Amino acid sequence: MLLNTRLAKAISDSGWGMFIRMLEYKAEFYGGAVVKIERWYPSSKTCSNCGHVVDKLPLGIRTWTCSACMVDHDRDVNAAKNILAVGYTVWRSRRCDIAQSPHASEEGSKTLVAQAA
Ligand SMILES: [Zn+2]
Repeated sequence: MLLNTRLAKAISDSGWGMFIRMLEYKAEFYGGAVVKIERWYPSSKTCSNCGHVVDKLPLGIRTWTCSACMVDHDRDVNAAKNILAVGYTVWRSRRCDIAQSPHASEEGSKTLVAQAA
């Protein structure tokens, strides 16, 4: 994402790091968690319906149809679904690790998911 200079400038201007810190603070305050996923995870290029990954998806392409399952996607909505799914997977795996710890319990916690920029 940061290879696109205009997009990178927009993200820098919006204070992405500050946003993440505020998100983490609020999540902790309310007993939740923030899960960051891999920066290069292809959230836009992965079909949220079947998992097929397209080779290229230039930023100018805002909607696309999966060649494997023929489902139409809005680029951003599809990416959001994928980020949420991966975030929950990471979160669940951490909960399994935590559940094996004799000290921790996260019952009822809320989770926010963000893709590292
Ligand atoms: Zn598909």
